[in-house]
Parts: sequence; structure tokens; C-alpha cells
Amino acid sequence: MLDLLIVGGGPAGLTAGLYAVRAGLDTLLLERKFSGGQASTANLIENYPGFDSGVGGPELAMAMEKQAVKAGLNIRYDTCSNLSLTGDIKRATLTADHGVEARAVILAMGAQPRKTGARGEEELRGHGVSWCATCDGFMMRGKRAVVIGGGNTAAEDALYLSNLCEHVTIIHRRDAMRADHALVRKILDHKKITVLWDHVVTSFIGEKKLRAVEVAHTKTGERSELDAEGAFIAVGGHPDTAIAAGQVATDLSGYIIAGEDTRTNLPLVYAAGDLRAKPLRQIVTASADGAIAATMAMQDLRFGESERNTADYMTVDNHR
Ligand code: NAP
Repeated sequence: MLDLLIVGGGPAGLTAGLYAVRAGLDTLLLERKFSGGQASTANLIENYPGFDSGVGGPELAMAMEKQAVKAGLNIRYDTCSNLSLTGDIKRATLTADHGVEARAVILAMGAQPRKTGARGEEELRGHGVSWCATCDGFMMRGKRAVVIGGGNTAAEDALYLSNLCEHVTIIHRRDAMRADHALVRKILDHKKITVLWDHVVTSFIGEKKLRAVEVAHTKTGERSELDAEGAFIAVGGHPDTAIAAGQVATDLSGYIIAGEDTRTNLPLVYAAGDLRAKPLRQIVTASADGAIAATMAMQDLRFGESERNTADYMTVDNHR
């Protein structure tokens, strides 16, 4: 029986693991793929404190993992297919007949990238259609690419691709980007990036490889084609909370409702990182959640849970 099980090895889970083992909790972190989560796919992270020239996503993820493991964190690379969270003993089902039990659980499974739903998206996935500019961008050297979305990911992807591509067009459904002001300024000043405002992609076109995208104006409905050999989708994500569904309280979009103390509606179950309903999803806020969740778990395990303030859960502003 573990003190604490952490599900998910992104910045939230790894920080939780670091704090938990330093607090003396017998802790296991489960990760199904690789450490770092979405952060590990970022080319350059310029707003994580402490790096005046920015830091690569994989580099930051590896450093976080190394630090947590060095502190004594146990990481198991395995898929958790089911969680039982409502009883005093929390159970996780891993591969086949394998399982683990813990007294407390930190949910840190993050979020998955969203699809556009446009025609050809699935068929051309891996053949020009991608969700990861830093993974697939190198194939776009000297070519024309589009980036779909108006958030920080779209802006960062476009800037990254502009170093490789002949030209990058951002296709955004509104007439303003929600990305950070500093990034938007860089985009608008950039000679190799243009923004196609008020448009959505209706079709990814190509036989075996992407050749163009069909776009439609969101107000007039007028359709046109844009040549592109790469299409990078950056339209946000949805929380990866399926294994906790029906047990832990979520909002209508599936984000877990928890106060700033990361406590959920279930005793000794905490939500940390991008899967928590909150106004800002960044590496720094995910790490902060992880630190808080581990500290709350330690306190609740040692001293019993203090009175739960359900008002906190009702006032979360999840505008995204
Ligand atoms: P996001 O902020 O949710 O932005 C998603 C974008 O896609 C929005 O512009 C949205 O348009 C658009 N969109 C959503 N669904 C769409 C659809 N079906 N068709 C077309 N467009 C659609 O997602 P994100 O950029 O991936 O960022 C996620 C979180 O991670 C954010 O909190 C962000 O700040 C953070 N992030 C941080 C960093 C960093 O710290 N360096 C880097 C990347 C991301 P609307 O604006 O019209 O809703």
C-alpha cells in the first residue's frame, strides 16, 4: 500500500512527485508514454522562470524528471486503464492483471490536443497533418505550411516553423488571437508569417500527402484553397480524465473541479495541472498545482483533512 499514487508525468505530476518524496511519502508516479507531457513537445519555452534565453521543452522535462528521481521518486512507465477513487483505498488498474493501491491519489493526466473535425484530417494524419510542430516541422524545410488556431501553441508553432518554412499562414476562426500579447506582436511583425483571420479549415486536401487546405470565411461562408504541404493543428485540447469519469466532479468540458488547494470532491484525491478547471494552463501553473497537491496530500494523510470548502469548487472561473 502506497501513501500516494500520482497519475501522469507532466510538470504537474513530476513536481508533485518531487514534493511528495521530499515530504517522506511513499510515492509512485505512473506515466504511460514519456515524462514531460505536452511541455516536452514545446520547442522553446520562454516564459518559465529562471531561463533568460528560454529552455527547450524536452530539456526542461528531462531536468524535472531527473530532479524528482534523484530525490527518490519511483516512476513506472505503464498505462493506467482504470481508477477506483471513492473508497478509503484507491486502486489503479495497470496492464492486464496488474494493479496498485494507495491511500491518496493525485490526478495529473493533463489534456489531449483537439481535432478540427475537417474532412481529410484523419486520412492525412502523419502525411502532412500534424499536432506537433517541433516533432514534424523539420519535414517542412523550404515548404509552405499552415497553423490552425489562435492561442499560444499556434503562435509558438508558427514562429518555430517560420525558421524552416518558406511561408507560414495562421488560420484563425476569429479576428483576434488569444495568444500572449508579446507573441502576437512577433507574429504580426514577422515577414514570413501571415494571419488569415475569420477562417476555418473545412478540408485537408491531398491523395497520399497534403497538398492544400480548403478554408471557409466564418462570416460570409466563402470558400477558397490555400497551398500547403504541412498543416499544424493547435486548437487547444480536452482534459484526459476518462479513467476518473463518474467519480470525480468535473465541469461541462470535463475539467476536474478543485479549489486552489487542488482538493477534489473526493477525500484524498487531488487534481493538478491542465486537467483542473482554472483560468491559466501553463507549465508554471501546472508545477504550482503539483507542489500544492503533494503538500495537501501529505497534510491530509498525516493530520486528517481540514473542513472542505465546497464554495471554492463552485466559484472556479473556467472560461477556456
Ligand atoms: P488554447 O489557448 O485553448 O487556444 C486554442 C485556440 O484554438 C483558440 O484560438 C481557439 O479559438 C482555437 N480553436 C478552438 N477550437 C477550434 C476549432 N474547432 N476550430 C478552429 N479553431 C479552434 O490552446 P493552446 O494554444 O494549445 O494553449 C493551451 C494552454 O496552454 C493555454 O493556457 C496556453 O496559454 C498554454 N500554453 C502555454 C505555453 C507557454 O507557456 N509557453 C505554450 C503553449 C500553450 P478562440 O480563440 O476563438 O477560442
